[in-house]
Amino acid sequence: MLTPEVIDPRGGPLLLAPEWLMLPDGPRPDMAVVVQDGRFAHVGTLTETTAAYPGLTPVALPQRLLMPGLIDTHTHLTQSFGKALAFGEPSEIFRRIWVPMEGVLDADAAYLSTKLAALEALRGGFTTVVDAGTRSEAGLDGVTNATRDAGIRCVLGMICNDAANTDGEAGVRRILDAAASFLSAFEHDPLVHPSLAISIPEAASDRMLHDVARLTQESGRRFQTHVNEHLVAVERSLVARGLRPLEVLHAAGALNDSALLAHATLLTARELGLLRDSGAAVAYNPVASQWKGNAVLDAGLLHMLGVPFGLGTDGTRADGLRLMDAAEATQRIAHGLANGDSSCGAGWLWLDHATHLGARAAGLAQITGRIEAGLAADFLLLDLDVPEFVPSWDLSWELVRFANRDQIEAVFVQGALRLWKGWPLDWDARALMREVATVARRDVARAPIQRVHPPSDAHRAQHGQPAR
Ligand SMILES: [Zn+2]
Repeated sequence: MLTPEVIDPRGGPLLLAPEWLMLPDGPRPDMAVVVQDGRFAHVGTLTETTAAYPGLTPVALPQRLLMPGLIDTHTHLTQSFGKALAFGEPSEIFRRIWVPMEGVLDADAAYLSTKLAALEALRGGFTTVVDAGTRSEAGLDGVTNATRDAGIRCVLGMICNDAANTDGEAGVRRILDAAASFLSAFEHDPLVHPSLAISIPEAASDRMLHDVARLTQESGRRFQTHVNEHLVAVERSLVARGLRPLEVLHAAGALNDSALLAHATLLTARELGLLRDSGAAVAYNPVASQWKGNAVLDAGLLHMLGVPFGLGTDGTRADGLRLMDAAEATQRIAHGLANGDSSCGAGWLWLDHATHLGARAAGLAQITGRIEAGLAADFLLLDLDVPEFVPSWDLSWELVRFANRDQIEAVFVQGALRLWKGWPLDWDARALMREVATVARRDVARAPIQRVHPPSDAHRAQHGQPAR
């Protein structure tokens, strides 16, 4: 019986020998890894690895897959108090729910919301999340501390919007100075990777867009923004500027290879060309398209064009395995049905973009996303001894279509065992849940949220009978 004590690396280096090891080109049997000081010290065949480390006793992991932790390339950690409040809502939910709700979070509430979101992410197999920046004024420290305490890797956005700046050049300077100090404060942090964000292009001046994208490019960090998600925003941009949002970024000189664009679902052929030529990356958020979008990104086309992209939850549902399934399913329904593409990525496309190609989109290709010597030991142990995986014919595709969160036995980030069978071993998750339930009720009640759609049962009462 596998127990957490056996695989807890706090006792020193670990030699793990899983039945299957997931490498960038697919699953391999008879392999082993050595985890030491937060990293993979060695990855090789079992024979070669045991010979290279004669002092280590291999931990046999029969019927287990050791695979890279999944990357959520777009989320909002301080929206976890909202959840089903957004269901059924028409587009631009941020205006009516998220901005009002995040605006009332104090530092403690931002901490609690983030820690809950980080716990959900880890349970869903994500070892890295890319946060697009909290709208809670007091929240950034809380977000930072909560991700560290939960032990998840985080690309952490700091919002640099200046559309509401009434202080001219001095106001712009203050934002840019704060951005530069934020980037340098986390320069060597093992888990927190600083990033700058502008919520949507219209939330900033062209000068701010340009300077923020230059700062991130110079420092090798990510510039995050949401573009071309909703028709209403595209049309507002056309009316105000004569340009679509992605074209605004290009015109401002902010579309460079440090950019990570969330959604990009409504792209013209010209915008696709600008995107490809810029080297910018995209976060494909299939569940966001299902729940609130106007369109579905053609991720297969993006892959063919060589545009880097990862999968993102956009704070919808922090389940990485269901996210891969959703990525394939929405691609098929939106694009594959129309052109008869019965393959739609053949499983591997979604697995790759949820792991090593997602890490590339997040700007972390040299840090995580692959099981490789020298990279951070961010990985999952999956139990394959379940009926759904017997018989197994195609492990990569089975992970996309059959795998379930309850198969994730262990989650490691930076070599530390963060979850065992879905729960942390070194802090009290249930106490956090009780605290969140109280604080979330308080904050949602006092936030000026405007919901357009009624809850499900109220909706049934109104619409349960067909109209006569
Ligand atoms: Zn978002």
